[in-house]
Amino acid sequence: MKFGGTSVANVERIRAVAQIVKREADAGRGVAVVVSAMAGETNRLVELCREIGQPAPALDARDLEYDAIVATGEQVTSGLLALTMQQMGYRARSWQGWQIPLKTDAAHGKARIREIPEDAIGEAIDSGEIAVVSGFQGVSPAQRIATLGRGGSDTSAVALAAAIGAATCDIYTDVDGVYTTDPRIMKQARRIPKISFEEMLEMASVGAKVLQTRSVELAMAYKTPLRVLSSFDPPDAPGPGTLICDEDDIVEQNIVSAVTPAMDEATISLLAVPDEPGRAAKIFTVLADANVNIDMIVQSPSREAGHANISFTMSEADIDRAVSVLKEQQKTIGFSALQEDRDVAKISVIGVGMKSHAGVASVMFKTLADRGINIQNISTSEIKISVLIESEYAELAVRALHQAYELDKPAGGKEAS
Ligand code: ADP
Ligand code: ASP
Ligand code: MG
Repeated sequence: MKFGGTSVANVERIRAVAQIVKREADAGRGVAVVVSAMAGETNRLVELCREIGQPAPALDARDLEYDAIVATGEQVTSGLLALTMQQMGYRARSWQGWQIPLKTDAAHGKARIREIPEDAIGEAIDSGEIAVVSGFQGVSPAQRIATLGRGGSDTSAVALAAAIGAATCDIYTDVDGVYTTDPRIMKQARRIPKISFEEMLEMASVGAKVLQTRSVELAMAYKTPLRVLSSFDPPDAPGPGTLICDEDDIVEQNIVSAVTPAMDEATISLLAVPDEPGRAAKIFTVLADANVNIDMIVQSPSREAGHANISFTMSEADIDRAVSVLKEQQKTIGFSALQEDRDVAKISVIGVGMKSHAGVASVMFKTLADRGINIQNISTSEIKISVLIESEYAELAVRALHQAYELDKPAGGKEAS
């Protein structure tokens, strides 16, 4: 079971979470619980680092301390929940990443899990003790505290579930499932009873923050049954939530399952890059070395003959780092100017039905055109179409697309089965 920040936001919420854990323990199940920091706490810690002069995580030595600082939020909540369970008469203890140990690589601030030995924590759970684990954190090869990137407690939970062979990994959050679009943006959004790993992976990677992308990748790879549930439902009457499962286990499918907005996008354009082999490789190597994830890439002819303009998008959190490493390499890359734009949003429509149905793209483009929304950039995969637009039109676009694909009407995804 994993509980996110809002679910453990204060002592009262932690007591409510303890009741949900109690329900599972009383049913005779072995339980490992992964907790996030209290809502807002990680932001507060990141801000303290920034005040001291360490901005967003960059790959340099100072990140070791950044991780040591931002990982502390989870230590508090795991301790508090273990203590609450003890006071209710259960055997429980807290586990920090290094105690399990949850071993990661050395990419501080965005570390990936390498290995979780099952022994210590498995034995504790088998003995009937409730294991309350700090999410978001692990230990690097140099025995330093490493964090897994924002939203990383989801990944801690799935990885731990896979390592101990859990029957299911239940992600409790502040919404009662995965919705057709962010329910905070659109109240007509509907809960999706079942969604395929593939679609969930696309949704997460284009910006639906309900699950961290890496957690879905792991669940898919290890075939860990994954559910999204609300921690605000009464413990004795939990809602059905959303099951993330294989596509074959879903009887009726919509062509489009969800519309996902990503507001914190940014774009960089490099103007007049010499149009010759190796330039793109140089640009994207520089960015990869700085751990900047790039998404939509467009190359177009420049006004200057023999040159091209190259634009790409990334998360707004990464743009300062991207700009600084690109400017350092301006001579070797050879661009004449760099333009940046933070007022952009990426809107994606996702659905496995796209594999077999034509016309999804044309509906999307026509819907946006009818509202006078200009598309700056397009990218596609087999089951996704993303467009980049001015951020001021993002909500309008989400609403229009949600309606155009009839996502507000209960269609394919029936509850049953
Ligand atoms: P937690 O702190 O529990 O990890 P998050 O804030 O990371 O919770 O994720 C839950 C939030 O994800 C919801 O409050 C919701 O606003 C947002 N969200 C975005 N897209 C979706 C979606 N398609 N379905 C459900 N929630 C979504
Ligand atoms: N507390 C961390 C964050 O806010 C990890 C998590 O909540 O999943 O990013
Ligand atoms: Mg989260």
